[in-house]
Amino acid sequence: MAATILDGKEVAKSIRAEMTNEVENLKKQGLTPGLTVILVGEDPASHSYVKAKEKACQEIGIQSEVIRMDASISQKELLETIERLNQNPNVHGILVQLPLPSHISEHAVIEAIRPEKDVDGFHPINVGNLVIGQEAFLPCTPHGIVELIKRTGTRLDGKHAVVIGRSNIVGKPVALLLQQENATVTMCHSRTKNLEQLTRQADILVVAVGKAHMIGKEHVNPGAVVIDVGVNRMDSGKLVGDVKFDEVKEIAGFITPVPGGVGPMTITMLLKNTIEAAKKQALLPNGVKG
Ligand code: NDP
Repeated sequence: MAATILDGKEVAKSIRAEMTNEVENLKKQGLTPGLTVILVGEDPASHSYVKAKEKACQEIGIQSEVIRMDASISQKELLETIERLNQNPNVHGILVQLPLPSHISEHAVIEAIRPEKDVDGFHPINVGNLVIGQEAFLPCTPHGIVELIKRTGTRLDGKHAVVIGRSNIVGKPVALLLQQENATVTMCHSRTKNLEQLTRQADILVVAVGKAHMIGKEHVNPGAVVIDVGVNRMDSGKLVGDVKFDEVKEIAGFITPVPGGVGPMTITMLLKNTIEAAKKQALLPNGVKG
């Protein structure tokens, strides 16, 4: 039987509708959540991601600002800008769009953001809290993936989840989140042997590699929930995922399309983190922790 398509756009729309009401209520209480995105350089994909984030903020009433900086900016100047935003009580969330030019250390930049404004969930404090199961800003893509899986009605408890990819942004945190939901998690990467043998055991298969169409129906356990995180631009300009959507949808239980699957959920979780950040900071003197 053909899979049910997991329409990330639709799910995101309904979550964003709830968030619009919440932002409206916060504004009535004098609190306007604010997100500042810093964009360095001219990478076209980064530009389009930032535009989408700005638009999403505006749609639900979050105050958004984009600081565009030249690719030649020094790391010092960037860190000074972040520090100004750290001190600004109207800015509740700070996001530096990655990747950065090679002369700037991503690590130093991420660490410069106050953990309570780190709405991307990349700061070592937030990552550490996630690992030890304490309250943290969850990284947006992994959080969105777990929300999408839950919307299928699939109980994660005791399920076998196989994650392909072990990046800090997607693979590792999604594996942790799935484990926290009591799934049994297998992580695969470029050195994994017998990939197909492992993926065929998956009740839930999360593919986050960045290689167009690398997963076919031979990798998939019939009825599995297949989450395709990959975004690959073909020479034709078309965006495709890591999964051969047309053939895998014939045997999977649920499958996300690319585009329109994980992507809209990522932005939605960013909005959610920004609202949470604003609420938490509103309880603090001057909006920031000393
Ligand atoms: P990375 O390049 O950081 O990580 C890719 C991972 O895939 C690595 O762990 C790598 O293994 C593994 N890998 C590479 N080749 C193979 C292989 N043949 N078999 C098994 N594993 C392999 O990518 P990201 O995690 O940052 O992103 C993954 C994809 O998701 C990209 O297409 C990206 O554009 C997309 N993405 C989409 C988002 C969205 O919102 N929709 C958000 C973030 C990312 P190893 O560690 O051994 O090198």
